[in-house]
Amino acid sequence: MRPMDAKTLQHNYARLLERVRLAAEKYQRQPERVRILAVSKTRSAEEIREAAVLGLRAFGENYLQEAREKMEVLRELDLEWHFIGPIQSNKTRAIAETFDWVHSVDREKVARRLSEQRPPAMPPLQVCLQVNVSGEATKAGVSPEALPELARIVATLPRLQLRGLMAIPAASDDVNAQRRAFATLRHCLEGLPSGLDTLSMGMSGDLEAAIAEGSTLVRIGTDLFGPRPRPAN
Ligand SMILES: *Cc1c(COP(=O)(O)O)cnc(C)c1O
Repeated sequence: MRPMDAKTLQHNYARLLERVRLAAEKYQRQPERVRILAVSKTRSAEEIREAAVLGLRAFGENYLQEAREKMEVLRELDLEWHFIGPIQSNKTRAIAETFDWVHSVDREKVARRLSEQRPPAMPPLQVCLQVNVSGEATKAGVSPEALPELARIVATLPRLQLRGLMAIPAASDDVNAQRRAFATLRHCLEGLPSGLDTLSMGMSGDLEAAIAEGSTLVRIGTDLFGPRPRPAN
């Protein structure tokens, strides 16, 4: 595991921007409507600093302790931190106290705790509900059937601002299968009351399919920072 040098990171970022631009053009989307969330799990604070130099502002983390250490080191930078990993209920306070966004809310108990524990001095926590679009029993996420009720509850919680939906579909090399999974998430969003502006979908391996189906935020780790040094969930 080698840290990413600044030149390679710059090259990767330029290539990523070009990929997003080409996909947006192909599917008649405006490229500036697709944000890039740099997924920095397992990467060092110095690598995040290099990415910030290139103009990246939003960083996604999966592991609380690791994230907090990096936030501490980088606190003088104006970064936006997104929690994208599974949420244990005993971690909600720390998440509510440190992150700007959470993409992985999938049950009422966690949502209520995040709202209660969000410090009054901070802006409301920006929230996406994670939906299980592939129907695998082991994957996190609320089912499409249970989503409307969860969304209704979250919309009433005073310290959360519901922004949209997130999904991590089963990995597939088949673009049509990728698109079907992302279309399911889009249909879920279309079934909710209007005013939600975020479809958090698409990773290094499937960002074109996600943009085709309306993604507004792609979460990119590998194609920016290189392969991860250890398996991550
Ligand atoms: C790790 C991770 C990503 C980034 O995946 P890459 O394939 O490395 O781009 C995106 N979203 C979530 C939820 C992740 O855990």
